Amino acid sequence: MDKVLGIDIGGTSIKAGMFSTEGELQAAAQIPTGEIVSEADFALVTEGLKKLLEDNGATVEDVVGVGLDVPGPVDNDGKVGMLANIELDPEGLQAALKRTFVRANLAFVNDANAAALGELWQGSAKDASSFVLVAIGTGVGGGVVTDGKIVSGAFGAGGEIGHITVNRDETASCGCGRQGCLEQYASASGIVRVYKQECAKRGQEPVALTGPTDTLSVFNACRAGDEAAKAAISCMCDCLGYAMAQISVIIDPQMYLIGGGVAGGFKLFAEELRAAFRKYCLAPSVSTRILPASLGNDAAMYGSAFQAMQG
Ligand SMILES: [Zn+2]
Repeated sequence: MDKVLGIDIGGTSIKAGMFSTEGELQAAAQIPTGEIVSEADFALVTEGLKKLLEDNGATVEDVVGVGLDVPGPVDNDGKVGMLANIELDPEGLQAALKRTFVRANLAFVNDANAAALGELWQGSAKDASSFVLVAIGTGVGGGVVTDGKIVSGAFGAGGEIGHITVNRDETASCGCGRQGCLEQYASASGIVRVYKQECAKRGQEPVALTGPTDTLSVFNACRAGDEAAKAAISCMCDCLGYAMAQISVIIDPQMYLIGGGVAGGFKLFAEELRAAFRKYCLAPSVSTRILPASLGNDAAMYGSAFQAMQG
């Protein structure tokens, strides 16, 4: 039976899923890796994938597609650009995979785009032809789909919605080197940053935080009536709703999906986010749906597999 492998590449391990060509996730495995730059590293990956197949009654000959997501830009031809946060030699890995999976089409896809493709294939956007996935984690990523296809752009910057400028008066710098990006207010680190500012403004001690991205504690504080936490979440909703309204005047998607770790608090902020979007958007877009993504951490694995089937 034909199989497709979807691989989500992380900093310390890769997560691989074995899919049927109909999109059913049949088995998954986590393969510990460090940097993926040498023949020995590539072998660790291919052996791990072989084991996943063999443990589940399949062989390398069954594999018709292998898709991999990378945390960085991938152009429309599937060529991987500069990877800032991970030690990976995409061409070397691709060659090693080609030798192992001789029948397979290989494809690389940007990680946020992979998550969007996953939602399009088997998740919340299954029946949609246009939507934007807003992936809120440490940063804010985006995956833009129109006419059923990812918009990655001429230079690979398409969908970098975390860097939409929402505050031209900001003096603190974003990771991209510019000031006032959406990510500075609506990412996990942004929410915590604004929360601390709001506490300082009020002369109030922040609740105990486990780290610079601990939105769970901020959300819990908000539920318990903490005004600074409420203000941080309002700021996040206002900035994100504003950014989404700007996106809508360009591509006017059918829906926005909110994914990533912060989506765990979706119920808490959904109504405020919808209200902020309606406040800023142009009239025709007012009924655009804003929903939670449904595949969670598996979305990129699904999307990578789906991308491999497109070749
Ligand atoms: Zn930025």
